[in-house]
Amino acid sequence: MNFDLTPEQDQLRDAVRALGRKYGHGYFVAKAKAGEHTTELWGEAGRLGYLGVNIPTEYGGGGGGITELAIVCEELAAAGCPLLLLVVSPAIAATVINKHGTDEQRKRHLPGLADGTQKIVFAITEPEAGSNFHRLGTVARRDGDDWLLSGRKCYISGVDEAQYVLVVARTEDAATGKLKPALFIVPTDALGLTRSKLDMEILSPENQFLLYLDEVRLPADALVGESLDAGLPALFAGLNPERITVAAMGAGTGRYAIERASEYTATRKVWGGRSIGSHQGVAHPLAHAAVQVELARLMIHKAAARYDAGRDLEAGVSGNMAKYAAGEAAALAVDTAVQALGGAGMTTEYGVATLLGAVRAGRIAPVSREMILNFVAQHVLGQDKSY
Ligand SMILES: Cc1cc2nc3c(=O)[nH]c(=O)nc-3n(C[C@H](O)[C@H](O)[C@H](O)COP(=O)(O)OP(=O)(O)OC[C@H]3O[C@@H](n4cnc5c(N)ncnc54)[C@H](O)[C@@H]3O)c2cc1C
Repeated sequence: MNFDLTPEQDQLRDAVRALGRKYGHGYFVAKAKAGEHTTELWGEAGRLGYLGVNIPTEYGGGGGGITELAIVCEELAAAGCPLLLLVVSPAIAATVINKHGTDEQRKRHLPGLADGTQKIVFAITEPEAGSNFHRLGTVARRDGDDWLLSGRKCYISGVDEAQYVLVVARTEDAATGKLKPALFIVPTDALGLTRSKLDMEILSPENQFLLYLDEVRLPADALVGESLDAGLPALFAGLNPERITVAAMGAGTGRYAIERASEYTATRKVWGGRSIGSHQGVAHPLAHAAVQVELARLMIHKAAARYDAGRDLEAGVSGNMAKYAAGEAAALAVDTAVQALGGAGMTTEYGVATLLGAVRAGRIAPVSREMILNFVAQHVLGQDKSY
């Protein structure tokens, strides 16, 4: 058992931390408030190779795994820049295409994903299906060699800054009536694909959208993989990287909030010469949050190590637990930090309340805490499925 990063991973962590600090939370908030994207940070991270750490070297990536990508997600978040698109583009889309795409799809998409010049977002959630992906209603129908896609998706992040969206549909002729998913790489400017921006109470430079697919015509090679049989494994391939990297983002955000609060409480004095942090009523909640964040980080490392070792089923359990733990820890850390800062905690200047919406959403998306508890109850505790 080894709890240490390798020297290369340590270097990556230091380098990403330096990049994140160069931009910082002020940059992130200013971009969000201006309705702009973090184009400069994304571009620089791409040029430095951080967005492609998990992509094979033959496609211009770093040849690492989800452990390395989780380091990138955590360190940028720990610098106050939690970038959700890291989770959808390099974690989900690049993994799915690398593992289940055709050679042609790998060549077309992986180099751009590796250097950040291409973004592919991910669309699975639908208004009627919600957490129940077996009810997906987006249908793919064959028309000659082409595919026609129709349906609706909701809460899809980053469509306005991506060239493609990886759409999860179901094939119309699924004889059993069971979900037979098929994944399609759809250009965001495809005819018949329209979007409307959702107003979200999250301060973020990344936006969520409703997507409408109205007979979107796609060539045969838009289907991920050589045949329809690639659909289910391709969909599952994206889930573990998604949970692990979103957990890493949560852990980084928690670290950021605790660091801000600790700096403040160590120096703020309102009762004579003692800092407010010397009062256990202030320090213990912060210490408790720090323990929760560190526990989540342990589970993230375990999940990423299992995933990178090809132990997918075990990584599924650890990845879900990591996502749950980090989601709760991040929400606790930010809320506790706000409280510890008092009034300053609610100002934009101190940069912690600015994360309240994001960490709250982290307990819902990409998989809710309840659905993870269902998973653990069923697959770890052997309980009957209740739904
Ligand atoms: C900021 C943000 C970004 C997102 N980005 C994307 C994206 O890029 N792509 C994408 O496809 N989706 C995205 N989503 C959607 C997200 O994955 C869903 O919101 C999430 O899966 C929950 O689905 P739902 O909102 O339909 O909730 P519902 O399924 O309607 O559930 C509502 C509540 O009921 C609970 N619940 C439902 N069923 C059960 C059950 N059986 N047992 C116990 N509790 C249950 C849920 O846990 C939840 O608390 C995003 C969402 C947010 C908030």
